[in-house]
Amino acid sequence: MTNIQASPYGNNAPIGADMKFCSGCGKPVHKTARSCPNCGATQRSSKGGEKTKIVAGLLALFLGGLEIHKFYLGQGGWGVIYLIFFWTFIPAIVAFFEGIILLTMNEDRFDDKFNR
Ligand SMILES: [Zn+2]
Repeated sequence: MTNIQASPYGNNAPIGADMKFCSGCGKPVHKTARSCPNCGATQRSSKGGEKTKIVAGLLALFLGGLEIHKFYLGQGGWGVIYLIFFWTFIPAIVAFFEGIILLTMNEDRFDDKFNR
């Protein structure tokens, strides 16, 4: 991101390498901050995976029968099992509910489970 802009907090410090935008409110926060001082949203660390529950949830909802979200979440083994039972439509139904769960899941729990 080459989006350099003046800090709203006075000292004209650019939003540079040490800053990133809050995943909750979009305000700049320091990249090492674990939560946003402005809205309290938990910030994903830049180290591990960058999987998001939104992507996983939408994959489950719309491509559920194909179990793309299982591969996305690194559970490819399950994806294969689901593919074998694809013709039963059961995977699509299960994936639909998994999508709902993923989308409503607490961000912390999602990161705990899938972003290590
Ligand atoms: Zn925020």
